[in-house]
Amino acid sequence: MPTLPKRPLIALAVLAALLAAWLGFAAWYDHSRRADERPTTYSALIEQAGRGEIASITFANGSGHAVAADGGRYRVVMPVTDDLLKEMRAHKVAIAFDEGPGGLMAQTVSVLDRVAPFLVVALLIGGLLMSGGQFFGMGRATRVRPEDTNTVFADVAGVDEAKEELRETVQFLKDPRRFAMAGARVPKGILLVGPPGTGKTMLAKAAAGEAGVPFFAASGSDFVEMFVGLGAARVRSLFKTARANAPCILFIDEIDALAGKRGESTSHSEREQTLNQLLVEMDGIVEGGEVVVIAATNRSEMLDAAVLRPGRFDRHIHVGLPDVAGREAILGVHAGRLTLAPDVCARTVARGTPGFSGAELANLTNEAALSAARQGRVIVTMADYEAAKDRVLMGTERRSLALTAHERRLIAVHEAGHALVSLRCPQADPIHKATIIPRGGALGMVVRLPEGDRVSVSRAKLMADIAVAMAGRAAEELAFGSDQVTTGAEADFRAATDLARRMVTAWGMSEEIGFVAHAAAEPGARSERTAWRIDEEVRRITDEGMEHARRLLRTDRAALDGIAHALLERETLTGGEIAELADRQEERATEAA
Ligand code: ADP
Ligand code: ZN
Repeated sequence: MPTLPKRPLIALAVLAALLAAWLGFAAWYDHSRRADERPTTYSALIEQAGRGEIASITFANGSGHAVAADGGRYRVVMPVTDDLLKEMRAHKVAIAFDEGPGGLMAQTVSVLDRVAPFLVVALLIGGLLMSGGQFFGMGRATRVRPEDTNTVFADVAGVDEAKEELRETVQFLKDPRRFAMAGARVPKGILLVGPPGTGKTMLAKAAAGEAGVPFFAASGSDFVEMFVGLGAARVRSLFKTARANAPCILFIDEIDALAGKRGESTSHSEREQTLNQLLVEMDGIVEGGEVVVIAATNRSEMLDAAVLRPGRFDRHIHVGLPDVAGREAILGVHAGRLTLAPDVCARTVARGTPGFSGAELANLTNEAALSAARQGRVIVTMADYEAAKDRVLMGTERRSLALTAHERRLIAVHEAGHALVSLRCPQADPIHKATIIPRGGALGMVVRLPEGDRVSVSRAKLMADIAVAMAGRAAEELAFGSDQVTTGAEADFRAATDLARRMVTAWGMSEEIGFVAHAAAEPGARSERTAWRIDEEVRRITDEGMEHARRLLRTDRAALDGIAHALLERETLTGGEIAELADRQEERATEAA
């Protein structure tokens, strides 16, 4: 959303306040100046003048203001006629006329009336100058400041992979020449992807802290402007500041606000210009310059493809929600400044807070300390943590915490099923990790790594993928019986059915149907009988996948249970850990035999 530039707004507010103060003063002044005037009548005044008691009279705006010889002041409503003037002169009264409407207030209003149009124009120009920053050769981007970089990697817990990936960046910033001499190209654009509050800002700051270089921060939304060219000018000045302070880290939070997909916004050309400027600056930094730009987003799929192209933000680091061990570590970091009672068990608190981000755990710790303080205690107890958890949860609907132990076991078994079958099907994509940390709509998931961009896919791989999809439900059945299975497999079935249907109608992989491209045919072009046979074939293929999954899981039951158990304990397992667990169960089984 476009916003008004902030500085002109402040200037406007100050001006309005000054004007109001002036008008207030004018009203008071007008009042007090005339406060000692006594109203009198026309005829009474003429009589007084006749007695020689009136020294002067000033006509303004239809009234006369008279000053008597003894200092008394009178006000009278009177027409100014030639006769009146003659009479006054005859009595030696000094006559004056006030120009225009009388009073400070009235004069102010009339002046404002005349200058208002100029004032508006001046304000607009002033606004442009101030927010345009160096675009107009004055002012500077104020939101950029080198922040204290006391933060180090030890302050950020539970994100070891991300820290590992950033170590090279730290090395580069510490000693850029070493990399240059080796002819190595270090990624200058790093994108941190993950939900809010997982420590992305902290990581960037810690990288600067570890390298001992300045840290500049800005947010993508700072560059969303109403006036064309302003956003681009801000980007330019931001990068200029960074280059002048190199080596340094430039952090851009919420980069999606600045570099979202094109053509989705109303103020089109402004966004386009700002984005283009960012691309130009990134390219300049990659060419040379000891600036590393770290950007953060929680939706990388929203970013314009040009931003992600090689040489720009081409290094992506995922910063996910912490698992139970990560949560324990984060709680430890934040509890560092508290005095804990011996009954506080970080492990237990971590277990009770699945799906909490680092920021929420920091908040939880603070709430616990507050809870103790409210009762006049210095020592924080487990009860304080419990109370804090309730407070933090208030208002946040979190399905995962409402899960019963039985439901968690079901989810663990389901995900373990996917993981084990994909491990046992060499054709399927390898497992990256399995998790039962809820995210988005899913209660758990198995992340697989597709091996590069495939041009074509074999029938064997498709069958393996279908078996892997079926394995979640198959595992539930095996562990809990067929009347205990859940609705959790809906998305799995949709994926499997979709693959099977395309095998039959598009890829000619069903002997029964043959090599007819039914998918491309006109709707209604196929006979009812053919439609029925297609459905039968799809069903046969998904059934075959289900049978395959069941067979694999039945023969490997111990491995299934082992993985499910480990998932319940640790919430997240890497592909390597899953393979290890499966192998260990196998060894045990052969030993026993
Ligand atoms: P993000 O940039 O991902 O939205 P921040 O880095 O701003 O998150 O984190 C906000 C706050 O949450 C931090 O100041 C810190 O107190 C806490 N926090 C978040 N993640 C972690 C973590 N991994 N370790 C320790 N504290 C964390
Ligand atoms: Zn599933």
